[in-house]
Amino acid sequence: MNYLLEQFLKYIKINTMSNEDSNTTPSTNYQFDLANEIKLDLEKLGLKDIKLNEYAILTAKLESNCNSNLTIGFLAHLDTIPGFSGKNVSPQIINNYDGKDIDLGNIKIKVNEFTFLKKLKGHTIITTDGTTVLGADDKAGISEIMAMLHYFKNNPQIKHHNIYVAFTPDEEIGSGILKFNLADFKCDYAYTVDGGMYNEISYNNFNASSCKVKIFGKDIHPGDAKGHMLNASLIAMEFQNLLPTFNNPMYTEGFEGFIHLCSITGDVSNCTLDYIIRDHNLKKLKKLEDMLNLAATFINKKYGDNTIVIAIKREYYNMYEYIKKDKRSINKATKAIKDAGFIPVSLPIRGGTDGAKLTEMGLNTPNLGTGGYNPHGPYELASLNEMENVVKILINIAKK
Ligand SMILES: [Zn+2]
Repeated sequence: MNYLLEQFLKYIKINTMSNEDSNTTPSTNYQFDLANEIKLDLEKLGLKDIKLNEYAILTAKLESNCNSNLTIGFLAHLDTIPGFSGKNVSPQIINNYDGKDIDLGNIKIKVNEFTFLKKLKGHTIITTDGTTVLGADDKAGISEIMAMLHYFKNNPQIKHHNIYVAFTPDEEIGSGILKFNLADFKCDYAYTVDGGMYNEISYNNFNASSCKVKIFGKDIHPGDAKGHMLNASLIAMEFQNLLPTFNNPMYTEGFEGFIHLCSITGDVSNCTLDYIIRDHNLKKLKKLEDMLNLAATFINKKYGDNTIVIAIKREYYNMYEYIKKDKRSINKATKAIKDAGFIPVSLPIRGGTDGAKLTEMGLNTPNLGTGGYNPHGPYELASLNEMENVVKILINIAKK
């Protein structure tokens, strides 16, 4: 069996579900099981400076074999999502996939629902048994990074730059990367290898804010309420109706931003609304924030000061705000994808990534695809052929 597939099948069998209710890092101790397994594999490959710290952050270095002064980082995350089982993963391998619906017994992965399947015809596909995630998110990324290191180890004649690798916990709950110390990972730039088509290079994620809204009503016996009652729940509905209808996740895609009402709870006296605000363009994000502020001002004018109190908080930024000032990372990856004979594709990321945080912290870190699809549920699958393509791309990036 080839090294890439062997590593992948080994890693997905280790349960690494993260837990959003935990306040430790890692959020689940068994993420160390995978970190320790990878550590052994890194030792076998003869890497230097292998460090596994108390947060289950594993880093290692492969020094340049040609005195290059360029250092490139590659990162992948250890955990799988908390919301769907990643225990006892039982992968199904389909050789020479016929491009038709995949029947897993309890579920069917249908071509008319997941149209990308058509282009995977003839590939070796790895699916779940329908009861768990596969964990290709992000064990495909981990395996691909390992296969790149394995290639350089076995082809010492190929000249390469300094390579730093990192395997980090709790990406799915957004907390692992906050413990990442860039002082221990000095790179010129880096890549997360975390999902999407093999030929993807992504560097446009959302700018993100959150908005907490509190509405204070006046509860009076409904029989005597005329002219006195302020119903917080009704004011909340009015507030929402002042916001633009189509700037809503239900109606947006690609580079279109939105205001999303995540939750609303309340009664006559009090009502609380939680929103998230997203846009790839910072000016447009600011406009959406302004709309919330304007709506609140209107409500306060109508019902009295402090009827509504809103607090908008910036969460993270589009990494492109930083990367556009130093495009080496995206130029390098674009060339690497082309040199491997593929057409680079750059799609907007409709969320945040660990790379967005790292970029904000000072290390430009766009994302590369893995050949993994349908993450976060039982429909998850990976194409081994695309995973092999990713390894070629990673090698091209690191090669001198
Ligand atoms: Zn991921």
